[in-house]
Amino acid sequence: MSAAHFETVTPAPADGATRARLGRLTLRSGVVETPQFMPVGTNATVKALDPDDLRAAGATIILANTYHLYLRPGHERIARLGGLHRFMAWDRPILTDSGGFQVVSLGDLRVVDDEGVTFRSHLDDSVHRFTPQHAVAVQEALGSDVAVAFDQPVFPSSPREVVADATERTHRWAERSVAAHARPDQALFGIVQGGLDPELRAGSARFIAGLPFDGICLGGLAGDETAAEREATIDVAAAALGDDPRPRYLMGLGSPADLLEAVHRGVDLFDSVLPARVARNGSLWVPGGKLNLRNSRFLDDPEPVQADCPCVLCRHFSRAYLAHLFRAQELLAYRLATCHNLTFTLDFMDRIRSSIRAGTFPADLLELRLRAGRLSAREAAAKSA
Ligand SMILES: [Zn+2]
Repeated sequence: MSAAHFETVTPAPADGATRARLGRLTLRSGVVETPQFMPVGTNATVKALDPDDLRAAGATIILANTYHLYLRPGHERIARLGGLHRFMAWDRPILTDSGGFQVVSLGDLRVVDDEGVTFRSHLDDSVHRFTPQHAVAVQEALGSDVAVAFDQPVFPSSPREVVADATERTHRWAERSVAAHARPDQALFGIVQGGLDPELRAGSARFIAGLPFDGICLGGLAGDETAAEREATIDVAAAALGDDPRPRYLMGLGSPADLLEAVHRGVDLFDSVLPARVARNGSLWVPGGKLNLRNSRFLDDPEPVQADCPCVLCRHFSRAYLAHLFRAQELLAYRLATCHNLTFTLDFMDRIRSSIRAGTFPADLLELRLRAGRLSAREAAAKSA
């Protein structure tokens, strides 16, 4: 079989009430039910968690960062040690990103030319160069289930000529990535750019869809755009992709409310550091909103963070205990809070899949928006009245 097989289990309804669909993405290391969220393991670890924690949270696929692993400990070292799965003891699917976003956002003194990007490491100022071919070689050495073609992302709010230039370069690099990719057990996804401009975005979607990628990433979003701009841009890309049979992955989106609206518009895969990052800051996601465990009112609260949550935090510990751990800066706070937010996020995606499977997703949107904290209970009551 090929390195990736995507099957639409429940297609979007013909009446156009939603583009949400249920899918199964079969990769070398396992099957991923979609819509799905990928926790981010930047340095070959989701911060503070081990693989048992990730499995308990419901993770079936994670993302690892090509740029970080190339710089430290080095892709060739990981290859010598048996590849990324063995290195981090995670036997389920892994997607590696292209490195494009990190090169642009983290690397200093970056110089972009038509062959690639020269940048300084954010770790030690050493000079490095990424080309599309090199980004593919690094990901082949890491041995991820899914590699992603090197792109040039730009901020959504960039001037049109900047977006147009980066988008055309991304297209040329996509062709070089396809030509360079040789590992038959690894899928390769291409990235659509085009900023917020409908013409550029639709043209980029059609160009990338014209290449033999195994999946289509929507890049250059989850940046400085508004939710309305992002949703309009997803609609443009989805319309341009039409009935293209491949999975669609919106890079970098992470709040439950944003995930829900993107699923509604036909997106299948997501990744973000957000659930873990806000957890480490003491922000715990619960149905309808969030709790800030750094608030002193929780120091006397004997209740669990979320009574019906199956995570290690909610099964064993009180809000008071977690609030204490944060105040004492105990390391366990970061693990417990991260376990909870990832469990909440992955459970939310499971609820979305169940709703699509049942054919009730459009009718369930109100309740799902309420759970995601997008609507207050009062707003929801007003809407359903
Ligand atoms: Zn929990």
